[in-house]
Amino acid sequence: MTDDDARIAALPARLAAVTARIANSCGTAGRNPSEVRLLVASKTMSPTVARAAVAAGAALLGENRVQELVAKGPELVGLGAEVHLIGHLQGNKVRDAVLWASCVESVDSAGLGERLEARCAATGRTLDVMVQVNVSGESSKSGVTPEQAPALAVRLAGLPHLRLRGFMTIGANVPDDDVVRAGYARLRAVRDELLSGGTPGTSGALELSMGMSGDLELAIAEGATIVRVGSAVFGERAVLATRGAADI
Ligand SMILES: *Cc1c(COP(=O)(O)O)cnc(C)c1O
Repeated sequence: MTDDDARIAALPARLAAVTARIANSCGTAGRNPSEVRLLVASKTMSPTVARAAVAAGAALLGENRVQELVAKGPELVGLGAEVHLIGHLQGNKVRDAVLWASCVESVDSAGLGERLEARCAATGRTLDVMVQVNVSGESSKSGVTPEQAPALAVRLAGLPHLRLRGFMTIGANVPDDDVVRAGYARLRAVRDELLSGGTPGTSGALELSMGMSGDLELAIAEGATIVRVGSAVFGERAVLATRGAADI
């Protein structure tokens, strides 16, 4: 059996287990499971494995590298999946990103927002965006500070071809659940602060994309509307020689 075959064989049971974890956390938090969408992080998985995930019910996929997004995007979009970019986006790759992602969750500067706006204006389309916030302060992570986030959100909300959908964060990489959870509470507070400001264009900024395989329960307890799950759905990723912060 190839690596792909093994992942594909295990997919339905793993996906069901993740769905059950989401439902249980929603139960504990008194939330309706329909409020939480599962984004399946398909990075490093072959198009065949990603396709199997869609066949098994994954409706929303996330890629963290533009190069991979370009390679797999046509097939995934063709299958009817919604695809989000969840990794750092360089300004010179905006054109490729906009081709295959319906949402860029990782906007971390006004300059990147302007470039996305220009590209979308040129092609006559709109793009969903989220502000990536670094709630842990860990230097390996992209994103603006919680203090900077509302101002960036307001800037993005003023760009006519972008639709501000909310905020994204990668939780603290520490064993202490209370610290991780406090970071997720912080993201919720950022969103609520923005919404209470009532700035035009911000009322749709409801999404909180937070929580991964290891900590989705904590994120759902703090209001996550999207959890981004990779290894719990596909099994552990192969460790790349060049593995860095962007590989998470
Ligand atoms: C890979 C990745 C995830 C999923 O991580 P797992 O621990 O495998 O669930 C979530 N968010 C981002 C931004 C990622 O790059």
